[in-house]
Amino acid sequence: MSESRTGAKVERLPLARYTTLGVGGESEVWFVSTHEQLAEAMEQPYRILGGGSNLVISDEGVPERVIRLSGPFAERDLEPDPTLSGDTEIVTGWVGGGVPLPGLVRALQKLGLSNLEGTVGIPGQVGGSVWMNAGTRFGEMFDGLHTIEIATPDGVKQVTPADLNWGYRNSGIPRNHIVTRVRLKLKRGTPGEVQARMDAADHARKGQPKNKTPGCAFKNPTLPGGQKVSAGLLIDQAGLKGTRVGNAMIAPEHANFIVNLGGATAADVHALLEVIREKVGVPMELEYELWPERPELSQAQTAELR
Ligand SMILES: Cc1cc2nc3c(=O)[nH]c(=O)nc-3n(C[C@H](O)[C@H](O)[C@H](O)COP(=O)(O)OP(=O)(O)OC[C@H]3O[C@@H](n4cnc5c(N)ncnc54)[C@H](O)[C@@H]3O)c2cc1C
Repeated sequence: MSESRTGAKVERLPLARYTTLGVGGESEVWFVSTHEQLAEAMEQPYRILGGGSNLVISDEGVPERVIRLSGPFAERDLEPDPTLSGDTEIVTGWVGGGVPLPGLVRALQKLGLSNLEGTVGIPGQVGGSVWMNAGTRFGEMFDGLHTIEIATPDGVKQVTPADLNWGYRNSGIPRNHIVTRVRLKLKRGTPGEVQARMDAADHARKGQPKNKTPGCAFKNPTLPGGQKVSAGLLIDQAGLKGTRVGNAMIAPEHANFIVNLGGATAADVHALLEVIREKVGVPMELEYELWPERPELSQAQTAELR
């Protein structure tokens, strides 16, 4: 481990350690805990890594610096700000982009604070989840945001959701602009009420595999004529549940999940994605990101529909 000019901790580490799939080769990781360190890390080509729950990182790692938010960027202050809070709605202090979302959602439930319970079960960090407006049909990150602090190559700025062109699974924040901290806007309720809504969102996850995975592989494609179809159903109908390449497998529980049975490589996962593309025959776009990018695997191909 070495220290950068501004004191960031820099080390070559296997990224498998930081992904929910447990895959990813060695890369130069910058642990930054101040805006100054972050600005230095952003001087050279970089990627920002959150909870690694939406990524398949190659076995060779990536050539860019990999930034991880740490220190105060991974801390949370859930005290209501008295100058911005009222009887029914509160605005919290700062919550770091590196804070794990599951622990935050649990803490809010205990405090009886509502608006983010629909995101229960999403294993990312706050920054990554805000960047893509992660959510479920029970709610999404932008339901509970007051202010977003973003580090850009031109400096740090604070914006509100109204300043952004956000929408479904999209914050409108450009790639590689880094969500460093947010202030949450929450409704006061009771722990029991918040728990009941969390239970409903959690129930919808029944049937998802418990193994290491980066979540759903493909977005649900739209057929000519506008009809949306379930990617999982298409993969299942192609008879692919349980298909294995090396130690990666299409989950028998849910065909839209590729899981790591232990010791899987990114190459195994890429090969399975190719099998799915070939056998399903319907153009489908990948849900998670591949690092480095591989458009031939991630973008919907213009294959003939069966
Ligand atoms: C079992 C399982 C279930 C899931 N269920 C859902 C679900 O129901 N709904 C859903 O929306 N998603 C779901 N996901 C996907 C994933 O958890 C979310 O997309 C999550 O929000 C990704 O956050 P992350 O911090 O892990 O980001 P990463 O995987 O680390 O990164 C994803 C992208 O976000 C960028 N990023 C990361 N941190 C920051 C930051 N601080 N600022 C700016 N950009 C950043 C990265 O550069 C990358 O481009 C699921 C994943 C798993 C494994």
